[in-house]
Amino acid sequence: MKIELNNYGIKRIRQGNPLIQVEDLKQNIKKIPLEWIEFVDNKNKYVATGYLGKQNKGFGWVIDQTQRPIDQAFLIEKFQQALDQRQAFFADDTTTAFRLFNGEGDGFGGVTVDYYADYLVISWYNETIYHFQKLIVDSWLEVFPNAKGVVEKIRFKSELKESRWLAGEKPQEPLIVLENGVSYAVYLDEGYMTGIFLDQKEVRGRLTEGLAAGQKVLNMFSYTGAFSVAAAYGGALETTSVDLAQRSLPKTQEQFEVNGLSLEQQKIIVMDTFDYFRYALRKHLSYNLIILDPPSFARNKKKTFSVAKDYGRLIEDSVEILSEEGMIIASTNAANLPIKKFKQAIETALENKNVSYQLTESYRLPADFPASNFEESNYLKVLFYTIKK
Ligand code: SAH
Repeated sequence: MKIELNNYGIKRIRQGNPLIQVEDLKQNIKKIPLEWIEFVDNKNKYVATGYLGKQNKGFGWVIDQTQRPIDQAFLIEKFQQALDQRQAFFADDTTTAFRLFNGEGDGFGGVTVDYYADYLVISWYNETIYHFQKLIVDSWLEVFPNAKGVVEKIRFKSELKESRWLAGEKPQEPLIVLENGVSYAVYLDEGYMTGIFLDQKEVRGRLTEGLAAGQKVLNMFSYTGAFSVAAAYGGALETTSVDLAQRSLPKTQEQFEVNGLSLEQQKIIVMDTFDYFRYALRKHLSYNLIILDPPSFARNKKKTFSVAKDYGRLIEDSVEILSEEGMIIASTNAANLPIKKFKQAIETALENKNVSYQLTESYRLPADFPASNFEESNYLKVLFYTIKK
């Protein structure tokens, strides 16, 4: 099927941006075609091949500009390229979980593939790509025949269950994976999330490598406590993990246990972050290292939290319970918040608190999460601030 793009859309594609937006299309599409599309200009001349699909970002993806058919041979070539680029990860025995295929960053938007100790987890981000599920899974098993099993995640609006075991062996629960020598218990077939966010490996690596040694660490929005475990493994004096979700308590305990780390110096608290700030202040608790990694948006009771609106407050509250000299690790995965604005929000808050500060390290997506040529694609932003009160 052919679909006409306007000049604005064509220009963006030629600049290397593979994301199609509704505004790029000449006609109004009512029903999204479940097939590969030939995008053409107003003279019916070929521009690119791709597909339309509704997902959290955009309205479709460009996947080729050479007029090749999108068949199994094409997919196998793409997937093999991605595998070749990850040989250093496969060669490293101390890390057994990483991303094999990062959607648009590996030249094919709408699908990602993660590797967890011989299992594959494939995430589908729109219905059109899911229509090609069999072709894509078969192509993966062709380039990666040693996969022990495959699990899929449905990350678009659908009646389908969000997680499903697809092929091969059923993964153990938990499955233990390694990252920089630290063990993490993951549950591959349990909702959208597995227990670890693989894109934070470099930050966890810094914590295990020595940044946390001898420190009192506070991990806010801790989920399964992965940052706390990395810090404890790296010699933290004590860690405190705070998350609103009940499940975070047993899940975090388990992460310490699988590493043989005693729970004695680890506090795990099920509480709203902002309530914990008040509690800590009242109890005169203080920390040398505070990690902030909130979701982009969350709702608790009547309150909503959004990174753009509330990050400054998180920083100000953190300064209140930071030791005289300390560090704040400020992280966000909000794709729609440019790094400049994120930095500005943090630094305005630090200036409001009259502290001296220095941005000492910063991290974006790691090498196994290549980004594409548009700002939202490199969504992860992690800034380390050294602070003197
Ligand atoms: N930092 C974690 C990932 C955080 S995911 C890691 O690296 O693994 C976001 C977490 O924030 C979720 O577990 C969610 O339960 C928690 N959360 C959302 N709103 C919260 C709030 N107001 N207070 C505390 N935790 C919250």
